[in-house]
Amino acid sequence: MSEDIFKKVVAHAKEYGFVFPSSEIYDNLGAVYDYGQNGVELKNNLRQYWWKSMVQMHENIVGLDAAIFMHPKTWKASGHIDGFSDPMIDNKDSKKRYRADNLLEDKIARYQKDGKTNKAEELQSALDQALLDNNLVQLKTLIEQHEIACPISGTRNWTDVRQFNLMFATEMGAMAEEADKVYLRPETAQGIFVNFLNVQKSGRMKIPFGIAQTGKAFRNEIIARQFIMRMREFEQMEMQFFIRPGTQKEWYEYWKNMRMQWHQKLGFGSDKYRFHDHVKLAHYADAAVDIEFDFPFGFKEMEGIHSRTDFDLRNHQELSGKKMQYFDADLDENGKAYGNYIPYVIETSIGLDRLFLATLCAAYKEEEIITPATETSPEKKDSRVVLNLPPILAPYKVAILPLMKKDGLPEVAREILKDLKVDYNCFYEEKDAIGKRYRRQDAIGTPFCITVDHASLEDQTVTIRYRDSMAQERIPISKIREILAKEISWSKFLA
Ligand code: ATP
Repeated sequence: MSEDIFKKVVAHAKEYGFVFPSSEIYDNLGAVYDYGQNGVELKNNLRQYWWKSMVQMHENIVGLDAAIFMHPKTWKASGHIDGFSDPMIDNKDSKKRYRADNLLEDKIARYQKDGKTNKAEELQSALDQALLDNNLVQLKTLIEQHEIACPISGTRNWTDVRQFNLMFATEMGAMAEEADKVYLRPETAQGIFVNFLNVQKSGRMKIPFGIAQTGKAFRNEIIARQFIMRMREFEQMEMQFFIRPGTQKEWYEYWKNMRMQWHQKLGFGSDKYRFHDHVKLAHYADAAVDIEFDFPFGFKEMEGIHSRTDFDLRNHQELSGKKMQYFDADLDENGKAYGNYIPYVIETSIGLDRLFLATLCAAYKEEEIITPATETSPEKKDSRVVLNLPPILAPYKVAILPLMKKDGLPEVAREILKDLKVDYNCFYEEKDAIGKRYRRQDAIGTPFCITVDHASLEDQTVTIRYRDSMAQERIPISKIREILAKEISWSKFLA
C-alpha cells in the first residue's frame, strides 16, 4: 500500500516538474537527479526555512559558502581517505553490487514483517557487533547463515565482503603530469572546520558559536535506492557548533531537541519522526543520533546530530601545522580564564533532498470529492491529487486566473499580477476550464487561486479559492494582500 503511494509520488514529481532523472534522453545517470521548475522553488524554500532558523534566528550562528574543492590533505585529516568506506559484496551471477549491511537490514525487516521478532533482534545485534568490530568476514558469514540471495539472480554465489571508498576523485591542473588528485567533497562540514579561525576572528565570535553552510556533497554510493533518498550528488545543510570542552553533553541534548522541534513545526505530525541512537559511532563521534522520518518505505534517516569532539580541528592542526585554538577569556569557577583550547563541536547535518522527499511524501494526498445533489443535478463524485504543502513552502503562492481570455478580464488579472509578483511567486494562466486550472494548481500545492470574472470589472472583486478546503469567497481586490500576508509568513515556523 505505502509502496504504491511512493511510486505515485515519484511519478507525480516527474509529471509536475518537481524532479527529473538526470540526462534522461541518454537513459539517465544512476542516482543523479535534476530539480524541475516547481522542484527548485520548493527546494529553495526548504533551504530558506533551515537558513532562517539557523542563521537569522541565532545571534551566535553565522553562514559560510566554502568551495566544493578542498586541499587533498583536508580529507586525510578528516579521516575520509582512510575510513570513508562501506562494506560491499558482489553477486557473481548477476554481477550486481550490494552494501553488505543493507542486505542484512533488509533481511531483518523481512523477519519483522513475518512476525519473526526474535530472529530479527538476534540478527540486528549480530550485525551491530560486526559493524562495530569492522568484521567483514563476519558480515559474509551472516549473509550465508541467513541464506540471503541476490534479488536479481536469486543465487547465493557471493564474493567476499570488501571495503569501498565513497569519495569521487578527479584531477586539478592543466597537464596530466602536473595534476594533483583532488576530491569532490563528501560532506560540507570540512569547509567549516578549515575556516573556523577565519570566521571566528573576522566575526569576533565568542564560544559558544556556530557556522552554518548549505551545499553540494558527493558520494559514490554503492547502490542507489529509493529515488532522491540516496543520491551520488546531493545537498547538505550543516551547522557546526563550537563549544568549550566538557560541555558537549548538554549542547548535544540541546541541539537534538531543537532539531526535532524544527521538523515538527512543519506540521506533518509528530508521529512521523523518531530518534535513532547510533550503535556504531563514526570515526569522529562520541555520541550520535539520527532523526528518522516515516517515509512510505519505512522510518529512515533524514538528519544526523553528532558530538564530534575536537577530532576534526585537532587533526587539521596536526596536519597543517597551524594552530586551531581559541582563547577563552571567560573565568572558570576558580576565577581563572579558561585560556587556549581546541573547541569541541556539535554538528547538525541534514540532507536537503531527503527533507524534500519527506515533504513531498507527507504533502501528497489523493482525495475523493463528493458534490451533494441539488434539485437540478444529481450527486457528483470526483477525485483530485493535492499537495498540502505549508503555504510558505509552496512553489507558487498564488495563481491568478482570468475566467476568460477576453472582455478585458486578462487586463484586470495582469494588474493584480503586477502588484503581487514583487512579493510572491505568482502563476498566471488564461487557458482551459477553470476547474481544470484549479486541479493543476492543487497538484503543485498552490494555496490560493484568484479568479477574475465579469463581475470583477463592475465592482472590483475577485473570487479567492482555498486549496485545502476548496472553499471560494468573493473579496475586494484591495483585500487580497491582507489575506496572503496572514497565511504566507515565516512567523509560524520561526517564532
Ligand atoms: P546513510 O547512513 O543514509 O548513508 P549517513 O549517516 O552516511 O547516511 P551523514 O554522513 O550523517 O549520512 O550525512 C548527513 C545527512 O546527509 C544524512 O542524514 C542525509 O540526510 C544526507 N545524506 C547522506 N548521504 C546521502 C545521499 N547519498 N543522498 C542523499 N542524502 C544523503
